[in-house]
Amino acid sequence: MSNELTHADWQRLAGDLTFETRAFVDDAFVAAVSGETFATVNPATGETLAEVASCDAADAEVAVAHARRAFAEGGWSRRAPGERKAVLLRLAALMEQHKNELALLDTLDMGKPIASSLGDMAGAIGCLRHHAESIDKLYGEVAPTGEDALGLVLREPLGVVASIVPWNFPLMMTAWKIAPALAAGNSVILKPSEKSPLSALRLAQLAKEAGLPRGVFQVLPGFGHTVGKALALSMDVDCLAFTGSTAVGKQLMQYAGQSNLKRVYLECGGKSPNLVFADCKDLDAVARHAAEAIFHNQGEVCIAGSRLLVENSIREAVVDKLLAAAESMQPGDPLDPASFMGAMVDRTQYERVRDYIRRGVEEGATLRTGSDPAAEGPGLFIAPTVFDGVTPQMAIGREEIFGPVLAVFGFDSEEEAVRLANDSEYGLAAGVWSQDIDRIMRVSRRLESGQVFVNNWAGMDQTVPFGGVKQSGNGRDKSHHSLEEYSELKTVWLSLVP
Ligand code: NAD
Repeated sequence: MSNELTHADWQRLAGDLTFETRAFVDDAFVAAVSGETFATVNPATGETLAEVASCDAADAEVAVAHARRAFAEGGWSRRAPGERKAVLLRLAALMEQHKNELALLDTLDMGKPIASSLGDMAGAIGCLRHHAESIDKLYGEVAPTGEDALGLVLREPLGVVASIVPWNFPLMMTAWKIAPALAAGNSVILKPSEKSPLSALRLAQLAKEAGLPRGVFQVLPGFGHTVGKALALSMDVDCLAFTGSTAVGKQLMQYAGQSNLKRVYLECGGKSPNLVFADCKDLDAVARHAAEAIFHNQGEVCIAGSRLLVENSIREAVVDKLLAAAESMQPGDPLDPASFMGAMVDRTQYERVRDYIRRGVEEGATLRTGSDPAAEGPGLFIAPTVFDGVTPQMAIGREEIFGPVLAVFGFDSEEEAVRLANDSEYGLAAGVWSQDIDRIMRVSRRLESGQVFVNNWAGMDQTVPFGGVKQSGNGRDKSHHSLEEYSELKTVWLSLVP
């Protein structure tokens, strides 16, 4: 099917969709042990899409036992890497074949525009292929010992990995976690967000079709405080791979400490600074990229460029151009391929963002464009919102809003720009716009951030690691660095007779 589909095509496809709503445990789709379900709702229409199995501690216990058995049996964990690669490439091919359907599931479930969901599918499929292709090229080591010994450093899978993921890029975040974990030979239990469970369950069908052995990949839909917490506290889970909020990331570290010291890899929140110096090249392009950096995916992006730091001599000009760019990024029907922004994921998030807009006005920032926070709209749509004259003391200048709200700060010197940028508990991403290579390198080195984008925003592919410093997390997704996180080093020391 071509991706040149029209709005009407997507509406028709959405009408024809059926949903898998049961958990995938061992090798079968089953109801939750309790029989409980929860509703998943399309935020663009308010319509309930499906009632989904609501797993809890009982389901976690069963799934962990199956995952452990599968790991011990070795049908996947001890299989030749080249054979694991073949299965994962089959899964990638199936995802490619069904990418429109997978994209549609994410769009209906969490409100993101269909064009953005299709981009996510390309990212998810690329990630699976990258790790599948890497796993039979990852060597162990022979240590530089004396003649009387042979020191081997072997890489082994960890065991059972629980992947707990958010709703903002449902399938892409899933792929970033499960692809390296599965490629490395682990058994994986996926806990999708309760706000976007449908694509994960469809993925389970495809994984089964691709030939992943029973118990190696399981999906438990449900809430964080029930099934998520149970997985995090399990004595038989060896690793938690998490993407989500910093608050929950902190809880997961506590759960690991209270249980078996499982590894905890966290990708958490951000309040990412985008620094624009007066020597940058093309103000129109900078303003457009700065607008995309915050308004893409309705601002529901961990690396949203939510703080724009502009050298005061060009600030007015940049803000004017930014407002024009924002004007062209209004939210629309997520099923319309022309929509740049869609609906906010749910009413809680919608109200949270509107509350921040209200606070921004109360705190004295200048609202240059955006929603009237008092007006009640028919759907969960929020217009691109820009505040100028923001200071680090304001909540809108410090806290992660996770919505289409940009905070613009001014600065007069490089020193001040770096100080403002680093004045945050987060350190996920940062941008630098300048034509001066000395400045670019000076500033890039001083920014406390997992990644720095120079004269772009969010430039990346599978070859580079992704993750944060400070309270933005401690793990790295993508690239061979992520693959290494899902394996354990084992030393084998052989005594030899010289
Ligand atoms: P969240 O922390 O509320 O939930 C994330 C996942 O954790 C969900 O599956 C949820 O059910 C689960 N969870 C919640 N409480 C739990 C508990 N007590 N025990 C176990 N699991 C629990 O985050 P969210 O609202 O889904 O996503 C938004 C957040 O994710 C933002 O802060 C955003 O910055 C962050 N995020 C980070 C990255 C990154 O790579 N750094 C990427 C995307 C999103």
